[in-house]
Order: sequence, then C-alpha cells, then structure tokens
Amino acid sequence: MEATDTPQDPSDSNPNDVISDDSLPETDATLSPIPPENHPNDSQPSPESQSPGNPSTAPQTTLEAPISDSLDESSEPVPEETVDEPAQNRVNPPEPGPTEPGPPARKRRRRKKFFTELNGNPSVAKGRRADLAKEVDIEALIAVSVGFPVDSLTEEEIEANVVPTVGGSEQANYIVVRNHILARWRSNVSVWLTREHALESIRSEHKGLVDSAYRFLLEHGYINFGVGPAIKEPKLRSFDGVERGNVVIVGAGLAGLMAARQLVFLGFKVVVLEGRARPGGRVKTKKMMGDGAEAAADLGGSVLTGINGNPLGVLARQLGLPLHKVRDICPLYLPDGKAVDSEIDSRVEVSFNKLLDRVCKLRQTMIEEVKSVDVALGTALEAFRRVYGVAKDPQERMLLDWHLANLEYANASLMSNLSMAYWDQDDPYEMGGDHCFIPGGNETFIRALAEDLPIFYERTVESIRYGTDGVLVYAGGQEFRGDMVLCTVPLGVLKKGSIEFVPELPQRKRDAIQRLGFGLLNKVAILFPYNFWGGDIDTFGHLSEDPSMRGEFFLFYSYSSVSGGPLLVALVAGDAAIRFELMSPVESVRRVLDILRAIFNPKGIAVPDPIQAVCTRWGKDNFAYGSYSYVAVGSSGDDYDLLAESVGDGRVFFAGEATNKQYPATMHGAFLSGMREAANIFRVARRRSLSSADKLNDVTEEVDDLNKLFDAPDSTFGSFSVLFDPGSNDIEAKSLLRVKFGVDKVELGCLCLYALISRKRAMELGGIDGDGNRMKVLNQESGVCLVGRKGLSDAAKSLVTCIKLARSNQSGGNQVQ
Ligand SMILES: Cc1cc2nc3c(=O)[nH]c(=O)nc-3n(C[C@H](O)[C@H](O)[C@H](O)COP(=O)(O)OP(=O)(O)OC[C@H]3O[C@@H](n4cnc5c(N)ncnc54)[C@H](O)[C@@H]3O)c2cc1C
Repeated sequence: MEATDTPQDPSDSNPNDVISDDSLPETDATLSPIPPENHPNDSQPSPESQSPGNPSTAPQTTLEAPISDSLDESSEPVPEETVDEPAQNRVNPPEPGPTEPGPPARKRRRRKKFFTELNGNPSVAKGRRADLAKEVDIEALIAVSVGFPVDSLTEEEIEANVVPTVGGSEQANYIVVRNHILARWRSNVSVWLTREHALESIRSEHKGLVDSAYRFLLEHGYINFGVGPAIKEPKLRSFDGVERGNVVIVGAGLAGLMAARQLVFLGFKVVVLEGRARPGGRVKTKKMMGDGAEAAADLGGSVLTGINGNPLGVLARQLGLPLHKVRDICPLYLPDGKAVDSEIDSRVEVSFNKLLDRVCKLRQTMIEEVKSVDVALGTALEAFRRVYGVAKDPQERMLLDWHLANLEYANASLMSNLSMAYWDQDDPYEMGGDHCFIPGGNETFIRALAEDLPIFYERTVESIRYGTDGVLVYAGGQEFRGDMVLCTVPLGVLKKGSIEFVPELPQRKRDAIQRLGFGLLNKVAILFPYNFWGGDIDTFGHLSEDPSMRGEFFLFYSYSSVSGGPLLVALVAGDAAIRFELMSPVESVRRVLDILRAIFNPKGIAVPDPIQAVCTRWGKDNFAYGSYSYVAVGSSGDDYDLLAESVGDGRVFFAGEATNKQYPATMHGAFLSGMREAANIFRVARRRSLSSADKLNDVTEEVDDLNKLFDAPDSTFGSFSVLFDPGSNDIEAKSLLRVKFGVDKVELGCLCLYALISRKRAMELGGIDGDGNRMKVLNQESGVCLVGRKGLSDAAKSLVTCIKLARSNQSGGNQVQ
C-alpha cells in the first residue's frame, strides 16, 4: 500500500467546508458588530417586557450577528463584547413557549408520505410489520427491523452458503438461530458476542448451525460492530489473522468509515483518501457559539429517520448518548404569522394524502398495463388536483404547497423531477420507530468512527486506474496502489465526472449515474441568545404565498433540547433551495427573522437578534454537488443497484447512500452500504485467492511472456513502450502500447496497462512531452481505453502471437515460446 505521507490530524480541518472555495464574496459576510453599550443583561428582565402586545418588546430588524456560509471561516464566534443583543430586545426567555394554543399535532417530518393509513393502499412496510407481530416472535421482529426477510434467506446468505440447501428444513432452523444470535447481541451492544456466548443459549438441535450463522453475522457486520470500548479494539485487527490485501477507500463519509473499520477486521490493509480536511462528508456538525451561548448544529445529515434496527441507534447506545425523539407536534403558520386554522389544516392534509393515493392507484394501472411510462409526480398530482378541485381557496392552496414542499424536502428534489412510478420505491424497507436526534450532533459518532483509521485528509482523488493486477488511485500528486478500490464519493461527484476512471466505467453504470437524481436541501442554522419559541415542540412550519418559493424556510427544527443551546434550523427545499445558493446569507437570515417575528411578535414574544448564523451551500460543495439522491423521472430503484455494482472484475467497488436501494438518501443507508461492500470485497478477495492458487502459474507465465517482449520495445518514451506489428510497415497497422504505472515505487511493484493503437498514433505519442500529457491525449483526444493483461482484445492477443513468432524466427526459434 502506497503511503508516503502520514495522515493528517482531522482537527486541522476547515470547520466550514460545505461550499466550494469559489463562493460568492457576499457569502463570507460577517455583519458589523453592535456597539458594546447594547450588551444585553442576561439576568431576568421585568415581566412586563414579555407581556403580549407590549410595544416595548417589538423586535428590531437590525441584524448584527456573524452570519456566514458554512464554508466561511469568519463564522467563528465573535468575541462577546462585539456580538451584543440590542437593549430593546432584552426579554425574559419565555417559558414554556407560545401562549396561544397552537394548531393540532401532526406527523410532519422527513417522511416520504403520510397517507399510509388511508383506504386502498396501506403501506407495505406497516402491513409487513403488523402481520409479523402476529406471526413471529420478538427475535424475528428484530431481524426484520435490521433488514432480513421473514422466512427466507437474503442474497448475501445464499451467496455465503449458510445452509447446504436453500429452502430446505435446515433453512428454517438456520433463520431461528441467526435471529437469536442477532437479537442477543442487539440486547447488549456494548459487549463482544463470542461464538461461545452464542452457543450458550441455542437449543442443542440447532447447535450445528451456530457456526454458520455466527460467521455470517460477524463477517457482514450485523453483530459486533460500532464504537463501544469492547468492540472498537478487536475490530482494529484481523479476526482470523489472515492478510487479505490492500484496499484504497475514497471518501471518509459514513460509508467509507464503516467500510474501513470492517475491512480492517476482515484482514485488509486500508488507506482512506478524503478530499476535505475532516471526516464525515455530508454529516457535518458546526459548533456555534458566542455571547455565552453555544450549540452544535448539524448542517447535513441530522435526524435518525426511524430508530428500529437503525445501526446509528446502536452507535448512540454504545456511546451512552440518549436519543431525543422528534415530537410529532408541528404547528403551521400563515405568511402573516397567524396560526393555520386547525379545521382547514386537517382537511387539506386529508386531501393531499388522497391525491397521493390516487396517483398510487394510477401508477399501479400504468405499471401493469403500460410498463415503462413515467411522468413527474408533480405533474400527476397537479392533474388530479385540478380534476378533483382540491385546494381552490388561497389558504388551502398554500397548505397544499406546504405539503408538497415537505415532499420536496424528503426527496431533495423538485416535484417536477421526481419519478411518479418509483419515487417511493424504498418505502417497504423504511426503518420503523421514532425519528430521533443524537444529542451534541452527529459529529460525536463520526469522530468515534474515524479514530485510529489511516485517513489521509485533503487528498482529492482525480483518477482511478484499474486492471487485472490491481488499482492505482491518484490524489493530490500522489499515487496509491492497492488490490482494490472502494469509491464512496457522492452521486453528485460521479455525475460531475470529477474522478476519471481508466478504463472508463461500463456504459450501463454511466447511464445509471446520469439517470438517478441528486438533489438539493439547504439549511440556515441560527444560534439565539435564548429560546424564545418554547421547549414543547421540535418543529413548526411556515406557509408561503408564492408557490415557487414554497420550500423557503417552510420548516423549522428546534434543537434546543439536544444541541446544548438555543438553536433553530430553517430548511430550504425544492426550487427555493437552488435559488437560496444565489442569495447572500445576510438576506437569507433577514428573511428567516422576518418570518419568526411575524409568528412570535403578535404573541408578545420578541425575537432577539441572532448570535451567529450559518447558511449551507450543498449544491456548490465540490465534494458533494448536492445533498442526496432521489429517483428522477426515467430512473428506478434498479439504478441504485447499478451504482452499487463493482467493475473491473472485482477491482473497483462502490458504496454510499446512492448505492443503497433499500435505504437511499440517509445516514444509515450510507453506513449499511459501507458494511455491504466490505463483505463484498472480502468475498471477492477470498475467491480470488482460491482461484489464484490454481491459476498462479498460468498467469505468471502469460505476464512474463508479455514483459519479455517489452524488454525490447520498438519504441519507448517515458513510461510508454510500443511493440509494432512485425508484418507491416503501414502507418495504420496496429501496435501494442504498454503504459507502466508506479515505476518509481519499486518496492510496491508497478501496474501495466495495455492498448491497441495505430503505429501513427504511437509515433504521435512519442512526440509529446511528459507522461501526463501523453495520457491526456490518449484518453481524451483519442478515446483509447487501457486494459489489463486479461482484458486484451482478440486482435491484441493475435498481435502478441505474431510478435512472439517473428522474434522466435529471428532468433532461430529458441528464445520465446
Ligand atoms: C442538508 C442535508 C440534510 C440531510 N438530512 C438527513 C437526515 O436528517 N437524516 C439522514 O439519515 N440523512 C440525511 N442526509 C443524508 C445523509 O447525510 C447522507 O445520506 C450520508 O451522510 C451520505 O454518506 P456517504 O458516506 O454516502 O457520503 P458522504 O458523506 O458524502 O461521503 C463521501 C466522502 O467522499 C469525499 N469525496 C468526494 N469527492 C472526493 C474526491 N474526489 N476525493 C476524495 N474524497 C472525495 C467527500 O468529501 C465525503 O467525505 C442529509 C444530507 C444533507 C446534505
């Protein structure tokens, strides 16, 4: 494994790296400090200062706090004396919150839809769970929550030959044993469950299956994973002492970190190359502070969307972090700040759900009868809205738009881009249970996962070359050689083509990358001097008059109970999320404050000036180019599987949320994809070592043969060598080109890739200066793909035979066989 440098300390990282360096100047805005004489009195103000309608509490529109994009270093806390709250805003933090009765409680959170209980189309997931509750015991329920089918094996289990006969009686027993071991570990995730422990509680007739089930669960990361003290240490060494090769991992997000930990345990040497100066990728916690307040704001992945079976819940338990359930209460407010009438609210919600229901029925018919036709979910919903005359009244329309914004948030996409046929293809697998926050932000588990791993920060991978002999990964002027590479970069990065694959990725994979959607969600995180919105809710929503801006600050998350301070996060979804990135952060925060003041002032609650604010720019982030994946029109769940497929005969693997068909767009989806690929790499390496024992002699001979020919090339320049066709001097006659990579890393050996090119092209390449320029011409201008020894075409192989023959004749037939 190439490792010429020592990994950097992640603490060097830029804490605000969510947008690219080329951000607009105004995104660095830090507003001028308020004069020190306006420093607020933190002690209890007079009670009348918060009485409803007291004009003295009317909030000011001055905005005098540090506001920044999340890339902006200047968003670091400003010294206390410079960030002061205006004297006129000195109010007592209202307890316990809005005095008016709020609108009724509703489930409004990052769920894809809320219509599961409506007639006609019950959620498969719910039905599945309900049926199960009747039929199977608690251990089976745990297994299902983790993703196992009720009474059959997973593909992974079949691949792993966990039972001699699929579908036989032994399979049923195996499932019981597997579920039992799984449930046993899940009941106490702080301990390392040994095979002996697993055996203890298994009935004697099942003991024969324990080995198989225990090994499967261990190797696939279903048990004994995570960051608890009893788990962490044994995971940092090979479980069976066997060394299985080197893996270069691109990206230290959740997928990369999980894969790295599991691969080390499975006996691989790993190196993680990360473009940013920190681990976590799209999980990024920003410490905000000033004026005596501080809070941890999750600017990317934040909510654990369903706690049942969620591996992140396991990490929280291991770290002793109590989860905070996101409460279902979500009052909605009109643009003028008045609470939405509860009767209208309920009516529109029911109508919205019925519209979705109708679209579901329509697509069922379309899928059965027409098969491949797809339209945008937005188009279908709007058509039904018109037909059924839903939400004609302006207030109802705004409410409906709010629900659409909520869907655009869940999918990080505009309704006009979302596939009607497959947008919710992952619903059957949805993790059950509450949505939760982890106190202190998700960085806590990222740090724990990144600890002790060989991560090289600020190594932006530019190209990945692969062949039968291994892989070469180029990052920041360095090359890293491995047996395999695991690429976990976001779909946005793959779409952008920031990483060059040599040879190019197969067409079907490139098509899937193009088809699948990668959308945008942004956030404004604001730290206030105190919580003025009350402690009894975690979310509230705001309606917009302009349908095209329905996603702008449509939902607020209160993080007061978990972030360590009075923190509000406003979400920007849909079209508004795109426009948001063009707006100055100062303007954005001003708009948020206007909304908050419209809601809270009439209640007699003054909205203080913020202490600090951060605006994300995920669309401009060079290491993401967006927020998370969605099923675009013309795409389907199968594209997630295509993205997950390995290429190069088991040399290049892919993980990340956009490779997880069951749990896309989530933190746990990323986590599980890392585990999946670690197991995949392990399986391929094991197979390769078995078959290579047989083939070793053949392959070595073949490679030696070819290398012998190249010992006397017809032309050589830099790392390039060429063998001409001995039977023709024609300028268009074919020649065999060999490019040697890693020649200067003698101790690691080098990688040879080949291509069939014309003699003319070979001579042109010889006239170009430097290997880098030659490669550029070869790949970009000539479109030539380099392949490994095994990938040589028949034409190339026959040329090799001709050259061998010619040389053999020249030397009297003795030198080359
Ligand atoms: C605003 C926002 C809100 C979200 N909210 C939630 C939520 O509430 N709940 C939830 O479950 N999920 C949420 N998600 C999604 C969740 O954060 C992601 O699905 C998950 O973190 C993705 O992890 P990953 O490992 O697949 O990718 P990433 O975390 O993006 O990791 C990929 C890594 O590759 C690195 N990289 C990229 N290009 C290169 C290169 N060329 N060379 C080297 N390194 C490179 C990146 O820097 C990154 O560290 C949210 C995401 C966003 C952006």
